[in-house]
Amino acid sequence: MDTDIEQEWQVAVSAIEHYAYCPRQCALIHVEGIFEENLYTVRGNITHERVHSDDGATLRGVPVHRGLRIYCDRLGLVGQADLVEMRPEGPYPVEYKSGRLHRTPAELQLCAQALCLEEMYGVAVPCGAIYHAGARNRREVKLTAALRQHTEQVVSAVRDMLRRGYVPPPTDNPALCMRCSLVDTCLPDVVREKPRLRGVQSVLFRVHDAEEGDA
Ligand code: SF4
Repeated sequence: MDTDIEQEWQVAVSAIEHYAYCPRQCALIHVEGIFEENLYTVRGNITHERVHSDDGATLRGVPVHRGLRIYCDRLGLVGQADLVEMRPEGPYPVEYKSGRLHRTPAELQLCAQALCLEEMYGVAVPCGAIYHAGARNRREVKLTAALRQHTEQVVSAVRDMLRRGYVPPPTDNPALCMRCSLVDTCLPDVVREKPRLRGVQSVLFRVHDAEEGDA
């Protein structure tokens, strides 16, 4: 980011995952400042707190940073990485997830962390991993050119949404809403119905106008 104006629109690394899950969820949190807890967010918070508060300075003999503050000036990104292994060849980010894993949002978030680490440490970060706390397994993710490009596109989309203060319509996938902590604030079913209700309203007014004309 070159200018002070751009600095005003820094994007949180967590917003990338929110946007990839549902742009409206991202806007409600990062534009409107709304956040509500549900079972899934509480589980996620507990998982992250466990990782961050563990005082182990090494993991399987590798030095680690926990809850590391990260940034990328080039993209105007700021955030926190759950765990970064400081391997001899360079930093290796590990993102912890609880509950059901949404693959693409988690990979984009991990890639954003890698982009930050590359700028901070001046070395390439070709891979990272996602640790699924429920299944207790770790999956390595290759940070390909396509994934990097997708991540940068999402960063631009989030920044554009922040600048405009825009809140997009609800997702077309209601299954996502069932696990979303913002469902009671978002009211996706009501908002989805609005265009249909507007259509009904306009028909009613047309009938009314016609009746007045007949009189
Ligand atoms: S309830 Fe559905 S549409 Fe609304 S923010 Fe959550 S996922 Fe998006």
